[in-house]
Amino acid sequence: MKRNCPNNICAASEFIIRDGTFRRKEDAKIIQRFRCKRCGTRFSSATFSDAFGQKRRRVNSILLKLLSSNVSMRRAAKILGVDKKTVERRLPFLAERCRRLNRKILNDHRARIYNIQIDDLITKENSKLKPLSVSLAVDSDRRLILGTEVSQIPAFGVLAHLAVKKYGKRKDEHFEGLTRLFRSISPIVSPEVIVKSDEHNMYPGFISAYLPRAKHLSFKSERGCVAGQGELKKLKFDPLFCVNHTCAYLRGNVNRLIRKTWCTTKDPARLKDHLDVVVYHYNKSLLRKATPLLSGSS
Ligand SMILES: [Zn+2]
Repeated sequence: MKRNCPNNICAASEFIIRDGTFRRKEDAKIIQRFRCKRCGTRFSSATFSDAFGQKRRRVNSILLKLLSSNVSMRRAAKILGVDKKTVERRLPFLAERCRRLNRKILNDHRARIYNIQIDDLITKENSKLKPLSVSLAVDSDRRLILGTEVSQIPAFGVLAHLAVKKYGKRKDEHFEGLTRLFRSISPIVSPEVIVKSDEHNMYPGFISAYLPRAKHLSFKSERGCVAGQGELKKLKFDPLFCVNHTCAYLRGNVNRLIRKTWCTTKDPARLKDHLDVVVYHYNKSLLRKATPLLSGSS
């Protein structure tokens, strides 16, 4: 592998020579050092790693699996024998890495996605008076999760009045959330994609704006059953099974999305990070052996 000098003025590879090794303290790995003959800058094969400077890099891969397997952040810290702050700080790092890898997976299927389903999953920030909406899109042929976006929404139903009294008016950012979701999926899916969703009044506008050649089919919302935490429906045939099943999967495997759990989201940005980690684990590892659903036209 050719290495370039990290010094911006050189940025050339022809002056790079090996310059000894060192044993990294944290994982006892032997790391090759290099030196630039032109400017004298010394660096190592670890300088360009995204985990550069981390003192607990051994936890990264197992933490990804734990966070995708219904383990809370505090319990993950206990299992790994690290401080809970390490896990807190590592979550945004892992999310960034997973987002990058996930883009790669989705790019491999670019313009070959013909059937998608979209839905929103409701969760909360600390209290049911502060709900959050997770908008998600799935490829219903391959079961890939194409994207998730978290947005805050005001409390609704019987809690609406109480929520305003206690926390004041809560801004509805669902429009922005759906905008981010559609912006991210529109370059990946085929222009003639078939979009299935429930009868949410905001979906048709977004579909005609971002996927003008798409065909939109909407279905009546149905009652949930107990299995699948209310996400799987009491129907013989559920036209939105794929997205509902994915919602049930997320509720079952992301600790803070479980109904009636005592783990809650404190910061919506961290929920987005957590979801990106889970989505990568799901798309990469779990779908490898899964049976494709192959619905509709394919
Ligand atoms: Zn140099």
